[in-house]
Amino acid sequence: MRKNIAVIGAGYVGIAVGTGLLSLGHKVSFIDTSFQKIKSLQQGISPIYEPKVNEILQKYKGNYVATSSYEDVLRESEIVFICVGTPVNDKGKIDMSFILKASEEIGKAIKKIDNWILIVVKSTVLPGTTENYIAKSIEKYSGKVRYRDFGLAMNPEFLREGTALSDFLAPDRIVIGVNDEKSKQIMLELYEKIDAPKIITNIKTAEMIKYVSNAFLATKISFSNEIGNICKKLGIDAFKVFEAVGLDHRISPHFFRCGLGWGGSCFPKDITALINFAKEIGEELKILEAVVEVNNEQPKRMIALLKRHVPKLRGRRVGILGLSFKPGTDDIRESRALILVRELLKEGAEIIAYDPKAMENFKKEFPNIKYANSAQELIKSVDVVLIATEWEEFERLDYSGKIVIDGRRIKAAEKTAKIYEGMCW
Ligand code: NAD
Repeated sequence: MRKNIAVIGAGYVGIAVGTGLLSLGHKVSFIDTSFQKIKSLQQGISPIYEPKVNEILQKYKGNYVATSSYEDVLRESEIVFICVGTPVNDKGKIDMSFILKASEEIGKAIKKIDNWILIVVKSTVLPGTTENYIAKSIEKYSGKVRYRDFGLAMNPEFLREGTALSDFLAPDRIVIGVNDEKSKQIMLELYEKIDAPKIITNIKTAEMIKYVSNAFLATKISFSNEIGNICKKLGIDAFKVFEAVGLDHRISPHFFRCGLGWGGSCFPKDITALINFAKEIGEELKILEAVVEVNNEQPKRMIALLKRHVPKLRGRRVGILGLSFKPGTDDIRESRALILVRELLKEGAEIIAYDPKAMENFKKEFPNIKYANSAQELIKSVDVVLIATEWEEFERLDYSGKIVIDGRRIKAAEKTAKIYEGMCW
């Protein structure tokens, strides 16, 4: 049955959730504090790059609105998804300001409204946050009581940027954290058309599942990097090792991604938040601390490999291919390229960068480095190339005559470069 759904926060998750719900036949109202994002959505254009999203916005033009007004939207809505950011601050703790502001706004809006509404937390939050902070704040500002006057659910999101919409519509599983029957039934009905196992838990278990999932994936990559680093020393191809190891069904071949390490909008902040949260309750997450340490080492290893071939970087033209934290997105949060650029600037190198989607975002951080119009143009104009993101188009390039240090295993570079160094192979 078609529902009126509000999506608070039109970022990478909010856009995927909103367009996913549109394609399931629901009516969606996007709420964001960013005037630019609202304007863009009103024009039928996604404010972030994500495949297929613009087509959905065009197709369902009449079924969605975008605004900054909570009250107008919540008056009409049956379900509200909170998808605002939960970054970490300088101390490695979750910055709750966005989520608390959104909760306050929801509270103030539903105070004036009579209908029962289900509030769903999609943002990644530490165990206890939905009940102890979000629901409490909504109660404080609305004067209403959870479960009686409004429903509550925690529904973590596992989508990957670059394939966000398809991941939302065809997930490996849907986790529904609820403490009351009515909220549970509405969530099950909402996801009825999606054929995936539905795991029902209490709210704080759902919050924990998201952190454990990210922590395990990051661990698998850091483990691959440690093994990859010794394979490199021994002249062993780590990819071959992981191909065979992954065929063990207890292990699985996915995410054995050795190379430059992980970045992005989720792993770094979520792992840091979990480590610090554990400390607060008197626990030490030793494995995860090592996972972060190994990850921080990988860009330094890439620079060391580069220096093996170009010992003095001052004045040398170094090309960086790939600026987004992964292919398929324009998101540069915690991307490995950011670290590489900082290190190379310290060494006095002249940097030329290229990315198919993320250059505009990167320019905001580094307006003074050079940017190439195409990957092939970059290769032509530099002494040495660093590959930091595995964009598919990098497989169609000719690297001949160049030194290439590859953090992502681009086969075309391996085949055509004059000198080729893979990070873990
Ligand atoms: P984002 O920064 O891209 O988007 C957040 C949006 O919320 C922004 O557009 C911002 O303007 C808006 N916002 C902030 N405060 C607001 C308020 N009070 N009212 C309305 N809008 C407000 O963040 P994201 O990457 O979409 O992540 C959102 C949440 O989802 C985070 O908790 C993140 O950990 C989690 N998550 C992200 C991913 C991912 O791949 N990006 C995957 C799974 C889960």
